[in-house]
Amino acid sequence: MELAELKNEWFKTYPTPMIIAGPCSAESELQMLETAGRMKETGVEIPVFRAGIWKPRTKPNGFEGVGIIGLKWLQKVKEEFGFQTATEVANAHHVKAVLDADIDILWIGARTTVNPFAVQEIADALKGTDKIVLVKNPVNPDLALWIGALERLSGAGIRNLGVIHRGFSTYQKTKYRNVPNWQIALDFKNQFPEIPMLVDPSHICGNRTGLFSVAQEALNIGYQGVMVETHCNPDAAWSDAKQQVTPEVLAGMIEKLKVRDTEI
Ligand code: PEP
Ligand code: MN
Repeated sequence: MELAELKNEWFKTYPTPMIIAGPCSAESELQMLETAGRMKETGVEIPVFRAGIWKPRTKPNGFEGVGIIGLKWLQKVKEEFGFQTATEVANAHHVKAVLDADIDILWIGARTTVNPFAVQEIADALKGTDKIVLVKNPVNPDLALWIGALERLSGAGIRNLGVIHRGFSTYQKTKYRNVPNWQIALDFKNQFPEIPMLVDPSHICGNRTGLFSVAQEALNIGYQGVMVETHCNPDAAWSDAKQQVTPEVLAGMIEKLKVRDTEI
């Protein structure tokens, strides 16, 4: 199936903007359940709970994720609070474990999108699934590489695709952790208007203060969803502590977001 022919009906089952929220990393069952429980208590509609269980860290000897046990905690979050679940996959073993655990949404991280061998391995392992697969932009500002990753997935018969714009790394000091380079995302959108596009303000900003304006800017130019890192105790998070917000702050932010009513 050609990428441009995908109709992405999956997206219509979610409210707009589609919100995916949860901690950068799964740390413990308690942390997962407390975060999810407080997200639920806010009363704000958040259909999908995210948590990374295999964490691609820039340097060795850091926390690299809790691994497979985290899948059980995601299942528990679903059972107890009714969230759909999402996690990152970076190789074929991850894909198999995540499919076995019946997680609803898989995403490919920015450090994996850059690697065609890894993406191909993931695409092959996903053959035959109707799960939703979201592809983050590669860490480097390379539109062709981003599109190529999606083509590998659609070539393997994966039909429920979407993308996440999480910004691009730069050696320059800027107010962003990863510069948005909006034009690259807009070029993607113009080429593939049918592919749902989410923004990840957490990894773009790298802090808590810029989140709302980046998310709103994305909705203003026609994005359909937002992925935000949310933690029950952000300052104590084992990864990306500076950019995570409490469930209550998240809820306040979602309530303020305005959806653009006309498509570009
Ligand atoms: C994440 O979502 O926690 C993550 C690792 O993101 P990225 O791949 O965008 O760096
Ligand atoms: Mn993170």
